[in-house]
Amino acid sequence: MKRILITGAAGFLGSHLCDRFIAEGHEVIAMDNLITGDLKNIEHLFPLERFTFYNHDVTNFVHVPGELDYILHFASPASPIDYLKIPIQTLKVGAMGTHNLLGLAKEKNARFMIASTSEIYGDPLVHPQTEEYYGNVNTIGPRGVYDEAKRFQESITMAYHRFHGLDTRIVRIFNTYGPRMRLNDGRVIPAFMGQALRGEDLTVFGDGSQTRSFCFVDDEIEGIYRLLMSDYTLPVNIGNPNEISIKDFAEEIIKLTGTDQKIIYKPLPKDDPMQRQPDITKAKEILGWEPKVGREEGMRKTFEFFKGLSKEELEKTEHRDFTTHNKK
Ligand code: UDP
Repeated sequence: MKRILITGAAGFLGSHLCDRFIAEGHEVIAMDNLITGDLKNIEHLFPLERFTFYNHDVTNFVHVPGELDYILHFASPASPIDYLKIPIQTLKVGAMGTHNLLGLAKEKNARFMIASTSEIYGDPLVHPQTEEYYGNVNTIGPRGVYDEAKRFQESITMAYHRFHGLDTRIVRIFNTYGPRMRLNDGRVIPAFMGQALRGEDLTVFGDGSQTRSFCFVDDEIEGIYRLLMSDYTLPVNIGNPNEISIKDFAEEIIKLTGTDQKIIYKPLPKDDPMQRQPDITKAKEILGWEPKVGREEGMRKTFEFFKGLSKEELEKTEHRDFTTHNKK
């Protein structure tokens, strides 16, 4: 049995990771400050003896009593609407939070993994994105707070690896979806599904020709798990290479939800990447991993989850406005 600290444990990916490590028979120490996470994602784990929860902000000194085998740092706002609302916290959790947790990993001699992101590639000029691509990021744009925090996070993690010999892993996560996504996080999948369920038209930003490649959460978790268990210390892309334009995707959602909504067009947010598709050659070769769940099946399961939300939850929506990144 291993002892694992997971930060961002009440979030979308964090909570699925908790489930996975509990299912593997390990002890999970979950940490979250609940800014964007939600306890209902991990409520079912509270009765277990192998599960402990700390309500803590990792940008402050982190202490966990006892030994730790693995630390998985998954705490971070991760949707464009959140970066606009809490830009400073986004920078701090990627920078100071990572530094604190690296210190803890060194102290405990624990293996350390960070949740990096396709956002480090920015609006990519290389397609599909390989791990060797350095990216095209606007440091001062609305997404810069996330992108640069994640780039710094990779950098400091490699520095601890090289300078202190810390055992580290870097996963670059591409767009992932599935049950427990936050309905009001402004991202395209909860946005479209919420709109379909409320009987509203689907809002496509720009002309919808921008592309994304969506990975179902079960596949993503399997890839992350395999990378953690491997001995590979350089970054690895984990995502589904099946690419689709946002307009075609909106049409798929209309078909899936069986609604008669129309598509309406809104301005394209600033610095919205025009294309995104992971090159997963490394994951295939090193981890023997590739996604198994097709978009149709994954979206069906995700829609079932959103259908199960209460009417009050469904009404809680956020509207994205990317024309400004000022506070007011
Ligand atoms: N998008 C959209 N309508 C929405 C929300 C998002 O057309 O209501 C677009 C957005 O502009 C982007 C894509 O969908 O091109 C994916 O957006 P998301 O926020 O999910 O993730 P990211 O941009 O970080 O990949």
